[in-house]
Amino acid sequence: MHRMKACLKCVRCGRDYELDQPRYLCDCGGTLDLHRDLSGVDGEELKALWESRWGAKRGVDASGVWRYRELIFDLPPEEIVTRQEGNTRLYPAGKAGEYAGLKHFLLKHEGENPTGSFKDRGMTCGVTAAKFYRARNVACASTGNTSASMASYAAVCGMNSVIFIPEGKIAYGKLAQALAFGGRTLQIRGNFDDAMALVQEVCRELHIYLLNSINPFRIEGQKAIGFEILQQLDWQVPDWFVIPGGNLGNNSALSKGMEELYQLGIIDRIPRIAVIQAEGAAPLAHMWKQHTPFEPVRNPETIATAIKIGNPVSWEKSLRGLKWSNGVVESVSEQEIMDAKAMVDAAGIGAEPASCCSVAGAKKLVDTGVIDPEATVVGILTGNVLKDPDAVIGYHKDELGHLGIRGTYANRPQVIDPTLDAVRAALNL
Ligand SMILES: *Cc1c(COP(=O)(O)O)cnc(C)c1O
Ligand SMILES: [Zn+2]
Repeated sequence: MHRMKACLKCVRCGRDYELDQPRYLCDCGGTLDLHRDLSGVDGEELKALWESRWGAKRGVDASGVWRYRELIFDLPPEEIVTRQEGNTRLYPAGKAGEYAGLKHFLLKHEGENPTGSFKDRGMTCGVTAAKFYRARNVACASTGNTSASMASYAAVCGMNSVIFIPEGKIAYGKLAQALAFGGRTLQIRGNFDDAMALVQEVCRELHIYLLNSINPFRIEGQKAIGFEILQQLDWQVPDWFVIPGGNLGNNSALSKGMEELYQLGIIDRIPRIAVIQAEGAAPLAHMWKQHTPFEPVRNPETIATAIKIGNPVSWEKSLRGLKWSNGVVESVSEQEIMDAKAMVDAAGIGAEPASCCSVAGAKKLVDTGVIDPEATVVGILTGNVLKDPDAVIGYHKDELGHLGIRGTYANRPQVIDPTLDAVRAALNL
């Protein structure tokens, strides 16, 4: 398979830029996409190549991202920075499927990536791009998972990482990882959107490579979630994907990947994509339902900190993908997120709060008749259950009342005397 030539293309005005220099935005202010000319590429040949790499034991072919490198970032293996990310499981949803009212519900667990979230798929590609551009320093603003992932990949290839974290609560597991992996961590007085604006200025002025989801290479890596799901399903296309939306990069990646597979004839049907936002941070859902122009949310609030974003950078890319896939946008309440999470956790699968928007959203879309209960649905679980232990314990101790969340399915820990009788009484035996 010959290497396809790629360039950066503006999502807003269509202008092209060569890849020879780092660039994040078009001169018109629009975000950029990696664009390839797919005409003349043999889809069947590409699929056969990917199948031949399935189960590779080592090297870049063993990565669930770089297995698909022809459509990600086609570099010689020695230039790739990888932790063999991806290769995550696709589970029957069990209890969470019953809860959502779906007969054929699968959960793709991206929390099984090396640092515990799908961000690793984007980051392996983003840090490889940093190396491609000979960068020594990388930076991002993050609600947590991006920084954990960036710090890890930077450490793996000997780069310095600088992390801008918004003031207030950041999930403990994520902050712990960023510090552990040696990221220079700057907690700024302001919210995520302030941190995002600052990091762009810092990278421009101090010549640091920017690894926020504005970075077009991260989106390319994240496309592999969809590629891998389809390969796991022997290229049978599900009716729906349901995916949480914060900065809106991940759903943009999913639809972009599907569009490329469709163009190549690797899939013959277009899956529908449902993007789920938290009610307190739902600018896209608002725009979608009210048919109004895009308007950022000024003070985003949600227990699902990974999607607590009021001014998502990728909203235009997201919208393009939603139109292409005949998708929908829905929002869910804090209670719906945490009850859905209790079901995902009780199914033995487990995921962090933001991830469980997939299940809460699927349930809501089934309840409102948008998704057929007989449909084949794949929900994306974006992060690991251990990322946010406070949310789990708060819910199960029913101590989230101040956030308006009840522990509907609480599994309370119990303190007892160290006697057999006390155990018998506690277990009702
Ligand atoms: C980053 C993240 C999201 C949101 O993804 P976007 O691409 O910003 O929409 C959702 N869940 C988790 C766990 C994340 O880390
Ligand atoms: Zn432009």
